[in-house]
Amino acid sequence: MKEVSFEQESEPAGGPGRNTELGIVTYTFVFLFLIMIGYLVYINAWKAKDLNSSAYNTKDIANMDKYIRGSILSADGSVLAQTDVLDDGEELRVYPFANKFAHVIGYATNGQSGLEAACNKELLSSHVSALSRLQGDEDVKLPGDSVVVTLNANLQSVAYDALGSYNGAVVALEPDTGKILVMVSKPDFDPNTIGEVWESLVTDNTSSVLLNRATQGLYPPGSTFKILTTLAYMRQKPGEFRNFQFNCTSQLTVNDVTINCYNNNAHGQEDLKGAFSHSCNTAFAQIGLDLDNDDFHSLCEEFLFNRALPTSLQHSTSQFSLSGDASYGEQMTTAIGQGDTLMTPLHMAMVAATVANNGILMKPYCIDRVQTYDGDPVSTTKPSRYKRLMTEEEARILQEYMRETVLSGTATELGWYNFAPAGKTGSAEYTSGGVAGTHSWFVGFSDVDDPDLVVAVLAENGGTGSQTAVPIASQIFQAYYSIYGN
Ligand SMILES: [Zn+2]
Repeated sequence: MKEVSFEQESEPAGGPGRNTELGIVTYTFVFLFLIMIGYLVYINAWKAKDLNSSAYNTKDIANMDKYIRGSILSADGSVLAQTDVLDDGEELRVYPFANKFAHVIGYATNGQSGLEAACNKELLSSHVSALSRLQGDEDVKLPGDSVVVTLNANLQSVAYDALGSYNGAVVALEPDTGKILVMVSKPDFDPNTIGEVWESLVTDNTSSVLLNRATQGLYPPGSTFKILTTLAYMRQKPGEFRNFQFNCTSQLTVNDVTINCYNNNAHGQEDLKGAFSHSCNTAFAQIGLDLDNDDFHSLCEEFLFNRALPTSLQHSTSQFSLSGDASYGEQMTTAIGQGDTLMTPLHMAMVAATVANNGILMKPYCIDRVQTYDGDPVSTTKPSRYKRLMTEEEARILQEYMRETVLSGTATELGWYNFAPAGKTGSAEYTSGGVAGTHSWFVGFSDVDDPDLVVAVLAENGGTGSQTAVPIASQIFQAYYSIYGN
């Protein structure tokens, strides 16, 4: 269609007497030229960002001839990635922590991933002083800038060891800034040997080793999702939630669908705080039946389900799909974090961070600052607010419920610490290839009165939240306060 209208518009004034063959040739060239212009516009407008961070564009190759790729440093001063120049001039990218930061730092050969990809431009630029440039030999490469990340190497090591042999993820961040201090994903790989093991990593489609489970792994949230179900209930039933009463007899059956409490526990008479802290499935199934599905759906989309998270980290989109005409079964299972809902551990940490930060979500980030190789500042990331997602009063009530979970509910293993943690466990049931299992979740923060740190833990097939994820989170909170003080 485009071609036809182009020919009509371009009919020359000479009209019928023109040389048809010449006309066709001219039109063809003009048409090709327009395609080329269109392509250039497309490249500049749409693809520039992608190309800038892709591994093989010519600008990067030119910069690789001019600069030695800069280092990536942790917040506590450890080298996470650096380029060693060997005697023969060959450059070797070295990762002193090997597997521990594999996904979040990524790799810079065989393509790029993680922060190696995100900071490619900074690492292959140099802000060394004009004086050192003048003194330097023109053939000698300049040292690229260093990127200092928000990750704490000490805390990352504790989290890595605490997750042990489980596949899964750990994320820890500061709720009032969005700074990410820990990002672990397992199974992992050693970026030092990525070239040698590449084939086996990319052909392995059973455990997806290269996937950063913290930002790209999609899991049923299980009972950790009751944080949002509770918020939806508080908003939809402002006059009733404080007087909520439910008598749990261990199961609730509606239209052939039965929801059980864990271990067939009968929790008895409980208010909303009790139902939350004991993670009572039948009470929350009843709440699901009482909720307006469309309003619940809108609330979840405000909380960034079905949309991109406000972060430059590569991530998957969490999914929530309750429709207005959902069945009772769908309403009940969705309210307890099963159903079709899937979310990433980073997203779960952001939900808890919103509660901890009195309702305001800060954008999560990993790049703290860029500096020259010898430490002169180039640029610094300022914490930035995404938006207020709940009122201070709503956040205060959820903080109280999450604190109660630690004091008398499903996370009492954290109860005796003097740094006053608060949280929510999850035991998310799933089936994979016909085999059923339970993912172990914990998400929480401490201390409850002035939160310093949010921790989200997901241990694949780890059983209940209290069994596996809570003890892992406990080690991270303890390490945090031994590093940063109370
Ligand atoms: Zn119950």
